This record gives sequence, structure tokens and C-alpha cells, in this order.
Amino acid sequence: MKCPICNVDLESSNYRGICVEKCPSCEGIWLDIDELDQLEDKAFDLDELKGNVIFSSSPTNLQCPKCGSDLKRFKYRLHDLQLEFCEKQHGYWLDKEEERKIIKLMNERKMDMQRKHKAEQEWDEFLEDLKSPTFFQKLKTLLS
Ligand SMILES: [Zn+2]
Ligand SMILES: [Zn+2]
Repeated sequence: MKCPICNVDLESSNYRGICVEKCPSCEGIWLDIDELDQLEDKAFDLDELKGNVIFSSSPTNLQCPKCGSDLKRFKYRLHDLQLEFCEKQHGYWLDKEEERKIIKLMNERKMDMQRKHKAEQEWDEFLEDLKSPTFFQKLKTLLS
């Protein structure tokens, strides 16, 4: 698969225990959702999801590395994060700048050392949420 931004080959990479495809050039991450069935469903229930997702999506010029469809962008309010996703359920694109926002949020939380573990746990759970088939289905419904 090619990076939707740089058009170079993505490389398999283990990111916090999750197998992702990473661009060696821009360090963007493609979160594949092929193996969803193996993952425990930790998706938000619908009410919680509504509180966390801003209900807007916009088309982008980026293409899905799997099928070439235009990716859509949505904003995930919980972490002030924008993500691109393929409507055909191939996965999510998380670029380096977006990831930096998360790291920054986590570092701010680390000011309180007692919460360090919690911040990292939240990030791991966030990644797992993104890979949940239920999360994806609800997202599609909400944005359609
Ligand atoms: Zn790239
Ligand atoms: Zn696709």
C-alpha cells in the first residue's frame, strides 16, 4: 500500500501493540481494519459516541491506500483530532501532526505524574476504539 500523501510504500510497524502501516517519509499511520473480528469490541455506546464526535465530515483529496476511494475526514472532539477514513471500511489515516496533538495532550497530563499511566491507557484505548467494527459502523451511520 502507498501513503495517501507521499505515494511511497507503507511499512508494517508495531505501534503500541497494534500492527499498523506506517509511512517512512511523513510518519503517517494507516490503521487497518481487516482483522476486526479478532479484536474485542470496546466501542463507545451510541450516546457516548455522540458526545465525542463532531458531526461533520468533509471530502479530502487523499485516496484510500487499499481501494483508491477518496478518504473522508472527521473530527474527533475527545482529543481534538482529525482523522481520515475510507467509507468502504478499509481503515483510518492518522497523520504525524495529528499524532503529535495526542502526544502533546498526553504530555500535559503527565504534569500530574499520578495520571501518567491513565493518559497512556487512554491513548491505547483510543486506538483500539478506532479499530472496533462497532465504532466504525456507528461512525458511518452518524456521518451519513
Ligand atoms: Zn507519507
Ligand atoms: Zn478503501
